[in-house]
Amino acid sequence: MPVDRLLPSDEARELIELTRDIADKVLDPVVDEHEKAETYPEGVFAQLGAAGLLSLPQPEQWGGGGQPYEVYLQVLEEIAARWAAVGVAVSVHSLSSHPLLAYGTEEQKQRWLPGMLSGDQIGAYSLSEPQAGSDAAALNCKATRDGDAYVLNGSKAWITHGGKADFYTLFARTGEGSKGISCFLVPAGLDGLSFGKPEEKMGLHAVPTTSAFYDNARLDADRLIGQEGQGLSIAFSALDSGRLGIAAVAVGIAQAALDEAVRYANERTTFGRKIADHQGLGFLLADMAAAVVSARATYLDAARRRDLGLPYSTQASVAKLIATDAAMKVTTDAVQVFGGVGYTRDFRVERYMREAKITQIFEGTNQIQRLVISRGLGS
Ligand SMILES: Cc1cc2nc3c(=O)[nH]c(=O)nc-3n(C[C@H](O)[C@H](O)[C@H](O)COP(=O)(O)OP(=O)(O)OC[C@H]3O[C@@H](n4cnc5c(N)ncnc54)[C@H](O)[C@@H]3O)c2cc1C
Repeated sequence: MPVDRLLPSDEARELIELTRDIADKVLDPVVDEHEKAETYPEGVFAQLGAAGLLSLPQPEQWGGGGQPYEVYLQVLEEIAARWAAVGVAVSVHSLSSHPLLAYGTEEQKQRWLPGMLSGDQIGAYSLSEPQAGSDAAALNCKATRDGDAYVLNGSKAWITHGGKADFYTLFARTGEGSKGISCFLVPAGLDGLSFGKPEEKMGLHAVPTTSAFYDNARLDADRLIGQEGQGLSIAFSALDSGRLGIAAVAVGIAQAALDEAVRYANERTTFGRKIADHQGLGFLLADMAAAVVSARATYLDAARRRDLGLPYSTQASVAKLIATDAAMKVTTDAVQVFGGVGYTRDFRVERYMREAKITQIFEGTNQIQRLVISRGLGS
């Protein structure tokens, strides 16, 4: 199928075509099996990394693709349309490399960035704790300086790719209050670091989400990213970009649900005609299509501001709010288009509806996005 998108360059078009090809050959044949069996797709991330799809927006100097954010997000949307769990993990990988890229020293970047951006090293982002989700400043996991190391103690929660990632961008407490949080780069094999069993989630079954436990884990002090006490602002700056990734994932899920619904509505007949030809259903499909197109426009608007170096935090929250609410509505309506079979696991629309729900929750719930947007008004 030709790529029906407004793209800034021929290179961007080729990237979308490449992504669709990989989605057809690598993701599509195994997605249903892994999501049903809740098994990890070993090798899939290495294949995406080898194709350069794990580091598209990062600078070429460090091995990234040097692509505008608006192109990266459209590629991410294509991945998520085929497999949301993989799309989320790709977005989280990008999120987890942001602190090193934006706040690391030259020496730290030289040591760790090339491995991350080549996709040899998959990253996870570890901010949340059981009592500190929306209220991230309430986190308790401690990092106590001891000579040339920090000693880590405490537990983290809800880590996408937990137990499978190669590094963890960790936020831990080095002092009091919101200015007492610092950012660290933790290697997976650190002594004293262990992981809980995967959460039994509603969706995104193929990529684990786990807790992590630090028990007197000694981390070399040169793995502090940025300054001591700068952690929360690093976390939030990474989340501005990450939220755009989640918006793109949500649009991918919604587009996939719309495509399946349109296909089914043109096959299924009732009362002697295709159900798409009943105006009540045709209008439902029209509303779904309008929601997908307008949701995509919100993330592109924010991404283009980011690409131009303009402030985009409020626009990122708008995109996350609009795109994820659209995904929830469109996927729920797609189940409706399928009627009774939509409520079974025989069709993908049921999975899309479960997948859409989490996009309204993580990387800041949609209530928190409204908080960010309202605070940005008039500033
Ligand atoms: C599958 C999954 C993957 C995740 N991946 C990661 C990850 O990789 N890394 C990571 O760090 N975290 C991750 N998270 C955690 C996620 O970001 C948090 O769950 C989320 O931020 C919400 O925090 P909470 O669960 O503690 O809910 P709470 O903060 O307890 O919120 C409960 C409810 O109260 C509402 N609420 C809270 N405060 C306010 C307020 N001030 N105003 C209005 N309403 C409010 C919320 O919107 C929500 O509806 C993941 C979570 C899940 C489920």
